[in-house]
Amino acid sequence: MPTYRKKNDAEPTLNYTRRGFRLKDGRLHLAGNIVLTVVWSRDLPAEPSSVRVYRDSVGHWYASFVVPAEVQPLPETGRVIGIDWGVKETATTTSDAHDLPHPQHGEKAKAKLTRYDRMMARRKPAKGRAASNGYREAKRLRAKTYQKIARQRQDTGRKWAKHVVRDHDAIAVEDFRPKFLAGTTMARKAADAAIGATKRALLEMSRKHGRDVRLVHPAHTTMDCASCGARTKHALPLSERTYTCTACGVLSPRDKNSARVMLLRAGLNPAGVEGVRPPGAPLQEAA
Ligand SMILES: [Zn+2]
Repeated sequence: MPTYRKKNDAEPTLNYTRRGFRLKDGRLHLAGNIVLTVVWSRDLPAEPSSVRVYRDSVGHWYASFVVPAEVQPLPETGRVIGIDWGVKETATTTSDAHDLPHPQHGEKAKAKLTRYDRMMARRKPAKGRAASNGYREAKRLRAKTYQKIARQRQDTGRKWAKHVVRDHDAIAVEDFRPKFLAGTTMARKAADAAIGATKRALLEMSRKHGRDVRLVHPAHTTMDCASCGARTKHALPLSERTYTCTACGVLSPRDKNSARVMLLRAGLNPAGVEGVRPPGAPLQEAA
């Protein structure tokens, strides 16, 4: 069942549009004579149309500006890429040089998170009572740890996305929807979060550099043969790492097959793909 956030528990956030804020000498002037000194993470590329001032769960305040998007085109490469998301490998692509193993962010922090969860459980306020300082402190530490993991994921995602976007004109990618709400394991949740952050970074980076991104509906991508287009009767179990086509007899590593299916579904020509196994060459099984 969904739970609703109580008003007192929600973090404060304030929105100002064009008439409600002004920038002067690097300081942010808000309606109602509020003047804020801002630590700029980077220069604004254009005149902002609005600003959102908010506090995160760790207690830090941020000002987030909306500026018109500006495309920075990159040189054409003549190459295309298909991308499939997964648990073990966050991204498997049609180019071996662009595969992204699951970065395992959060593995190191696991013990810490368990500890903070226990601290919170122990210090949990009785119903109707205000939370103790100890409870709030545990909550803050936990939020801080989660924030750190989220930043690491974002950082890894951006670096990878930059690499992919620089090297390809068109990108066919599985339109993955995270399944956080399904009762899944910790590993599965971490994989979902990693995929979510990586996909977001890829879409942002592609738009920024004017690349052609095509989102592919995820249904049946593990069941179709990228070679002849035939569909198997049943989805491959996750343990089955090799896709064997009953129609044309082709063998290929399961995720590589899916990545090629993305490409075909998106209507891109696989001739622009590197690392395609020539017919008759031995199959290289991914470890
Ligand atoms: Zn086939």
